[in-house]
Amino acid sequence: MAAEISAAHTDGVVLVAVLKGSVPFMADMVRSMTVVPVIDFMAISAYAADTGRVRIVKDLDLDIMGRDVVLVEDIVDTGLTLHYLLAELGRRQPRSLEACTLLDRTSRRIIPTPVEYRGFEIGDEYVLGYGLDYAQRYRNLDRVVVGDLTVLRDDPDAYVASLHPR
Ligand code: 5GP
Repeated sequence: MAAEISAAHTDGVVLVAVLKGSVPFMADMVRSMTVVPVIDFMAISAYAADTGRVRIVKDLDLDIMGRDVVLVEDIVDTGLTLHYLLAELGRRQPRSLEACTLLDRTSRRIIPTPVEYRGFEIGDEYVLGYGLDYAQRYRNLDRVVVGDLTVLRDDPDAYVASLHPR
């Protein structure tokens, strides 16, 4: 994806990572890019699950008007978050606006949302690690693993000891 984005944006590109889950992915990706990206961050908080209503809790520092922008996500599930963010950033009149996601679960999509750069398509399994959390745990794992949501709801730390061997 770093090569693809670099090839498509030889004039440079603004990468906007959505905090916090996409941080490890973005960090690895920028190190493989062959154009010099400008990076910025946004943080959002969901009001309620699957409503698509989110609140910006940290906005961009940059003005993206007239810039080529790629939004970097960890996972696109229902598409509600990405849809909201693309609409919000689109209002700021970037020259181009694309989406990049490490993981894509198209089977759960509620709103069709364009994703120009996709790492891996995944199924229904809940994933953790490499930025992805459950109740703020597991983000620091160097890989993506599958977790059982019923186990995690019962004990958010259920996999901590086995996934972080001392
Ligand atoms: P959407 O708005 O597309 O339904 O949801 C996107 C957000 O839901 C992601 O940024 C992520 O925070 C969360 N999410 C969706 N599926 C998973 C998953 O399998 N594991 C984790 N850790 N978070 C997920």
